[in-house]
Amino acid sequence: MTSLVGHFIHGEHVAPQDGNLIDIHNPSTGAVCGQVEMASSALVQKAIDSAKAAYPAWRATPPAKRAQVMFRLKVLLEQHSDKICELISEEHGKVLHDAKGELQRGIENVEFACGMPQLLKGEHSKDVGPGIDAWSEFQPLGVVTGITPFNFPAMVPLWMWPSAIMCGNTFVLKPSEKDPSSALYIAALAAEAGLPPGVLNVVNGDKAAVDHLLEDPTIQAVSFVGSTPVAEAIYQKASANGKRCQALGGAKNHAIVMPDADVDNVVNALMGAAFGSCGERCMALSVVLAVGDEMGDTLRDRLSAQIETLKVGAGNDNSNDMGPLISAQHFDTVSGFIDSGVSQEADLVNDGRKLSVEGFEEGYFLGATLFDKVKPHMEIYQKEIFGPVLVMLRVPDMQTALELINEHEYGNGTCIFTRDGEAARFFIDQVQVGMVGVNVPLPVPVSYHSFGGWKRSLFGDLHAYGPDSVRFYTRRKAITQRWPSTNLREGSQFSFPSN
Ligand code: NAD
Repeated sequence: MTSLVGHFIHGEHVAPQDGNLIDIHNPSTGAVCGQVEMASSALVQKAIDSAKAAYPAWRATPPAKRAQVMFRLKVLLEQHSDKICELISEEHGKVLHDAKGELQRGIENVEFACGMPQLLKGEHSKDVGPGIDAWSEFQPLGVVTGITPFNFPAMVPLWMWPSAIMCGNTFVLKPSEKDPSSALYIAALAAEAGLPPGVLNVVNGDKAAVDHLLEDPTIQAVSFVGSTPVAEAIYQKASANGKRCQALGGAKNHAIVMPDADVDNVVNALMGAAFGSCGERCMALSVVLAVGDEMGDTLRDRLSAQIETLKVGAGNDNSNDMGPLISAQHFDTVSGFIDSGVSQEADLVNDGRKLSVEGFEEGYFLGATLFDKVKPHMEIYQKEIFGPVLVMLRVPDMQTALELINEHEYGNGTCIFTRDGEAARFFIDQVQVGMVGVNVPLPVPVSYHSFGGWKRSLFGDLHAYGPDSVRFYTRRKAITQRWPSTNLREGSQFSFPSN
């Protein structure tokens, strides 16, 4: 059965209206499982108008009351988690247990939002001058928007809108057109939790919808997560239109494996972090820097053997380790990267192009792939592949490894595997990357720390979710106040006021 996916505006589902529909595929079967409407300009405007109309009352709603909605939403998300994970898995292809992990990390952001009144308190100083008090308060921006990628269709929207609306803003979300249903489903749960109509609107669409959001003068701020070329273009356009913008982009996350690392742990960690979610994670570890040839040889043998045992198959079968890629087009792109590695003479140890999943011959399955003896000039090292392809470079020492990471254009996540605390401490201090793990392969910050990369992995100043989100979604106002007594009159003061 296929579904017809529309929008969520002013607290209600809006069925497709103009017939500009595109197919949604189930990546496990390759079959069309639904169609989603690309919103017309009029419909995007309707969502913006709804958010604008809802803003004054929502801004005036006490933060503790806003938080009550978040508490109820958390319960509803947990109650409906099976359904949400089914939607994620059907449209994205990731295995249900992985979808569950995604949703759990999304719910953590709702939990953080429940406590946000604490972070909205502002700062107060009594008696900054005779009878004068001063304080800073955080005021909402107005209507803000979020544009999200396909790879975490439930979690990334939850990075954004719970914090934004807890700060008193209203929101227009534009999810990925490849897997839009879980974000819409969650928006309806938010309404059920008591969110007033218009505070959260969801419009589906493509570049045209995004351009409308970036050009509309009502929109005050833009949160974007997606690929680097689009992130950069969105940052430039949003900034040129006077909007605050944070645009998180792509990645090429390196793991350094030192000669003293615990090999069993390293191999298990690399398998999950490289091939979980079919490598379609912005924090996926896609490069291994093996320090020393002995470690290189060991990792090559051990990883290669583990890859042979990896269970690849449909997302709705929880016994699988890894599902398919998102689309036929992306399958071609990732296969093309493997071809490129071969033609540039990297050493192909495991070739995922040979995989076929019985009963799912039309699915977008690509097996786990390992390249050894990769060189920095090769395309498979320089570009984000965003698939189940792990590339290994052999380096003589940690300094060479560090230089490679620091010279790479991306700086999202990284990890060092070692038993040497001094080496780890030096690495943490020197590495030019936003999120760092020590023996932790996917150092995705918990919801009360913020998430963000460096270099071309993030355009803007503030990171996503956590404490940075309060800064991003509010404007600071500094107030200085005095109540002069009626019998105290001062003359004009022409020198600059000081203590
Ligand atoms: P994408 O850039 O193709 O799309 C992201 C969003 O932008 C979607 O909603 C899409 O509809 C919209 N979009 C696409 N092209 C556009 C254009 N020309 N103008 C305006 N809007 C446009 O990314 P994707 O393929 O959905 O997601 C995968 C990418 O996202 C990877 O590069 C991955 O590393 C990155 N990602 C980064 C993070 C992070 O936190 N840094 C997290 C998740 C994913």
